[in-house]
Amino acid sequence: MLQIASAFDAGNIEVLSLDDPQDIRLEIKKDNGSDFYQWFYFRLTGARGVPCRLRIMNAGGAAYAQGWPGYQAVASTDREHWFRLDTDYEDGVLDIHLVPEDDAIWVAYFAPYSMERHGDLIASAQSSDRVNLSVLGKTLDGQDIDLLHVSDGSEAQKKSCWIMARQHPGESMAEWCMEGIIGRLLDEADPVSRALLKRADFYLVPNMNPDGSRRGHLRTNACGANLNREWDNPSMARSPEVYLVREYMRQTGVDFCLDVHGDEALPYNFIAGAEGTPDWSETRAAELAAYKKALMTASPDFQVKHGYPVSEPGTANLSMATNWIAQEFTCLSMTLEMPFKDTVDSPDAIQGWSPERSAALGRACLDALWTRIDDV
Ligand SMILES: [Zn+2]
Repeated sequence: MLQIASAFDAGNIEVLSLDDPQDIRLEIKKDNGSDFYQWFYFRLTGARGVPCRLRIMNAGGAAYAQGWPGYQAVASTDREHWFRLDTDYEDGVLDIHLVPEDDAIWVAYFAPYSMERHGDLIASAQSSDRVNLSVLGKTLDGQDIDLLHVSDGSEAQKKSCWIMARQHPGESMAEWCMEGIIGRLLDEADPVSRALLKRADFYLVPNMNPDGSRRGHLRTNACGANLNREWDNPSMARSPEVYLVREYMRQTGVDFCLDVHGDEALPYNFIAGAEGTPDWSETRAAELAAYKKALMTASPDFQVKHGYPVSEPGTANLSMATNWIAQEFTCLSMTLEMPFKDTVDSPDAIQGWSPERSAALGRACLDALWTRIDDV
């Protein structure tokens, strides 16, 4: 008998009808307290060898409907290797075609990064002498907000480099990227990490939105707050994640900040800067351009041709992390965006953009930072 379940860490789907394997009707649930939805993750069982068509009936009303054309859903039978499925989008409905080779198959918007895996990441990181784990406080659902302070312990005056991920919980590639960054910073044989840590301390928030992650949200925390619109005026009642990170940033100062995200529509990796902030200057623009150039050299998966339109002078939205941090700390502050689809310039037919490639881009971000660390 066909069954679909999503009552697990990061799961999200509503089953409308399961009678006909060629016409399985599903809906994505909205983030609690908001109208955003696009993240899905569920397990299909009892369909081994049966050609199935999974139909997401409310895809057209999702947060970014332009994310569906050219998109392929991901699946896994071992929850380690995630591969793409034949997917098409027509008349507001997303059709996913598959013939499961095993009794159970997991299907998702992108390779999930569950809170259980987040726990494993923290556990493995804290075993390094370079790491101190701090709990900044609690989320509205009562989960810990974890911060990893990475330092080589030397006494020299150092830069403060911040990297955070998953303000938008459905953008799971951001925490896969963080896994690459953390793995590299803790690798004692890696010359780039050793040299960077002589010059900088790293403050890493691998998951800014634990509640949204566990609840299977696309974009908001437990109460429906879009954390990347809270930075100018966060509160403990509505956005403790931002409030607490902001307080800690004021203690450490910020010389460099990378906020890691995923973009539903654009099939590219790109960086958005803090153009349009009140104190934007030629110096800031040159720093941003130099970092992007260094990242392009470090990773053929990164490009600078495609991205978001740049804000006009004085029009930056200061409720967004990148802009608020650039303005508050007068530093190089950027948003890194990765695709849900794939990179048009360097596609991978089996996996598309993937956990492994996200991690590799994270490692490359450290190469780029190494070339720029004395200038940030
Ligand atoms: Zn985002």
